[in-house]
Amino acid sequence: MDTELLIGSTFEAGTENEEQVLNPKTGETVASIPEASTAQIDRAVDAAETAFTTWSETTPAQRSGYLLRIADAIEKDAEGFATLEALNCGKPINAALNDEIPAIVDCFRFFAGAIRTQHGPVAGEYLPGFTSMIRRDPVGIIGSIAPWNYPLMMAAWKLAPALAGGNTVVFKPSEQTPLTALKLAKVMADILPEGVFNLVLGRGETTGNVLINHPKINMVSITGDIATGKKVLVAASKTVKRTHLELGGKAPVIVFEDADIEAAVGAIRAFGYYNAGQDCTAACRVYAHAKIYERFVADLSAAVSTIKYNQEDDTENEIGPLISRRQRDRVASFVERASELGHMQIATGGKLGSDKGFFYQPTVVAGALQDDEIVRREVFGPVVSVTKFSDDADAVKWANDSDYGLASSVWTKDVSKAMKASARLQYGCTWVNTHFMLTNEMPHGGLKQSGYGKDMSSYALEDYTVVRHVMIAH
Ligand code: NAD
Repeated sequence: MDTELLIGSTFEAGTENEEQVLNPKTGETVASIPEASTAQIDRAVDAAETAFTTWSETTPAQRSGYLLRIADAIEKDAEGFATLEALNCGKPINAALNDEIPAIVDCFRFFAGAIRTQHGPVAGEYLPGFTSMIRRDPVGIIGSIAPWNYPLMMAAWKLAPALAGGNTVVFKPSEQTPLTALKLAKVMADILPEGVFNLVLGRGETTGNVLINHPKINMVSITGDIATGKKVLVAASKTVKRTHLELGGKAPVIVFEDADIEAAVGAIRAFGYYNAGQDCTAACRVYAHAKIYERFVADLSAAVSTIKYNQEDDTENEIGPLISRRQRDRVASFVERASELGHMQIATGGKLGSDKGFFYQPTVVAGALQDDEIVRREVFGPVVSVTKFSDDADAVKWANDSDYGLASSVWTKDVSKAMKASARLQYGCTWVNTHFMLTNEMPHGGLKQSGYGKDMSSYALEDYTVVRHVMIAH
């Protein structure tokens, strides 16, 4: 198993404390990996700085060629990557292999194409005797920091647009899930020129903290918790770094009276619990109209109680465990506190899902009210709350009454109702009669405390490049 940092073209072991990497299905240690020292991080940044001089002068076609080779290499070793991701995150192998890897490969291919087809304002003589043109140039050295829920996919979302845009990168995966990033580093080292991609390992408060404060890093891109995003902003203010923040969500799902209940139940069963609910777009906060509420709760609870997990034959599993004991206990404590309040019903689930490993039962909490913690705070686990509404205006108001602003969905057969609600929802994405569908051509990113900046799509290329004006007198 790979365990070494990549600094320039050299693989070397970290020299600091060892971090235990666990298999969340069993709780057993699968690797023990030393963190990078500050001196090693400095050398990784220096390597990225040196590489930037030549990488930033490559043509879009050249960079496109590199990204296509990276995509091909990941695709060729899809099983190897998927197996490691499943081991490190507890994901069912089918989800890692058939959902995530193709999307990751497509992400590199999308940006390989997108960088060759950028467009913008027309060059011309906006003052007589002067020609103006707009350039889009790389930002410089990007410090990229990823979370543990989709380790390789989050790496792809950050690396593909950054590299396509002509930047060099120092990448830090989550200390809990470094295994696929370590494997990716081998691919990157084989394909990319020295120093364009560098890998450092370690915890947030150590390695991450050095990166976000590093004077030579020009932009920090991070996917993580709101609290972490705030620390990035404080650090960035010292050297006025650019920041790109993807910080969690609490997606509202409004099920209007005329909705196709079966379809809504099916989608929430799938996308409220996918990846054991450890997804910032998870369909976790349902508002159901009073006229369909009872049936909806009954149907959803029945459907959720059939979700398969912790089966010996992994191909039967629909979801895996939580990433850690800490995360599992955190999820359990949300449900316990909800249950203690008395007015909510645990319609299904509500208990630990196994003796070993970090499983939690897929859970529906019915009767939740707008001010309840379970409605307001991100649980990041297989737990969906259902709140009853009678007035459609209240549903949209309550959906917007949140610190988060990443993803939302509305369920109705009435196009006009769908359009009105979609226009008023303050979320980076609103799905109508579906949820969770992502495509590399379309942007993903939040409003409010969910952060700012877009992953995926040509908007991400904008985030990882700077607009410059060049004027020529003649
Ligand atoms: P986290 O914030 O604890 O960690 C994310 C990354 O930041 C890790 O690599 C961690 O080591 C690093 N980090 C932590 N503290 C740091 C610090 N002080 N300085 C620098 N780096 C630091 O989050 P997590 O628990 O790994 O991930 C779960 C969170 O990520 C959830 O809140 C989830 O909603 C969010 N998330 C958001 C999106 C999105 O697209 N908006 C996608 C996936 C996950």
